Amino acid sequence: MSPQPTKLALVGLGKIAIDEHVPSITASPTFDLVATVSRNAALPDLPAYQHLDGLLAARNDIHAVALCVPPQVRFDYARQALSAGCHVLLEKPPGATLSEVEALRRLAEDADRVLFATWHSRFARAVGTARTWLSGHRVERAGITWHEDVRHWHPGQQWIWDPGGFGVFDPGINALSILTDILAEPVRVTAAELDIPANRETPIAARLVLRGADGLRVDADFDWRRTGPQTWTITADTPDGRLTLVDGGARVDIDGIELAVDGPPASEYDGIYARFAELLATGQSDVDVAPLTHVADAFLIGRRITTGPFDD
Ligand code: NAP
Repeated sequence: MSPQPTKLALVGLGKIAIDEHVPSITASPTFDLVATVSRNAALPDLPAYQHLDGLLAARNDIHAVALCVPPQVRFDYARQALSAGCHVLLEKPPGATLSEVEALRRLAEDADRVLFATWHSRFARAVGTARTWLSGHRVERAGITWHEDVRHWHPGQQWIWDPGGFGVFDPGINALSILTDILAEPVRVTAAELDIPANRETPIAARLVLRGADGLRVDADFDWRRTGPQTWTITADTPDGRLTLVDGGARVDIDGIELAVDGPPASEYDGIYARFAELLATGQSDVDVAPLTHVADAFLIGRRITTGPFDD
């Protein structure tokens, strides 16, 4: 007899919840979407609650929650859910600060619950192939170009411009999550410039230099002002050729020759929910703060440059 699906509630019914989480949860044999929490939205035919404490007080059958609210409010939701005995999946970034993620990690450990800090870009189709190829080649230099149009991808989202909203690092942290997954050696941020519009609190563009222990240098260029073709590319130069991951990790080539990618073209979020199922089966948490650490370090040592005002 197959085990009963895990009853899951989805919290924060915004763009990513509707576009990705709902289809992947629905497709998953492990999870059963039984409720939503959102102040202004609901799904047809599904019990809806405006606040998480209302859900947790009314229902004792919820075993897991997926938190898709903005980072500034995620900690309180996660703490409530863990304290109520739920396993918790966090959208990226896992929190607004490093210390709150560490507090959640400890809370999950003490409560014997699973905490999964997701990095969806690590589940992009070609990332595993890139990691495997690079494990056999020494990386001398790497580059990130993450140029996109904020007006297209984040229409009307005020929280990204508020303190704790990350600005251009909201997508940029995806590149850092891939970089820290495919490089065999750790890197650290050694220089950063942050372009902050005069009327905003978070950067619209940023440039980082990261270095490894053995001469490896990574130049990262994030820009939210790109209209027209969008670019989400990571390169890694080795003595044996240049690896290029394009379209946010969807495809990979070596010196222009595309590598075959193993496995079916599952969506990133199908991969996330398959991994959450694995973690629940083994009782393990998965909380890697490396991408968040690099963003925090960029804010710590970055030179602020005030640029012209930016309006949506
Ligand atoms: P969003 O469209 O603004 O949705 C966030 C939802 O959270 C809102 O619809 C809102 O629903 C709820 N919420 C609760 N408290 C809130 C508060 N204080 N301020 C604003 N909203 C609040 O954002 P999103 O694009 O889905 O992003 C959510 C998270 O997913 C972010 O961490 C983001 O980095 C990540 N993510 C986004 C994308 C993407 O392409 N958009 C991709 C991958 C990951 P109610 O008002 O109904 O409560």
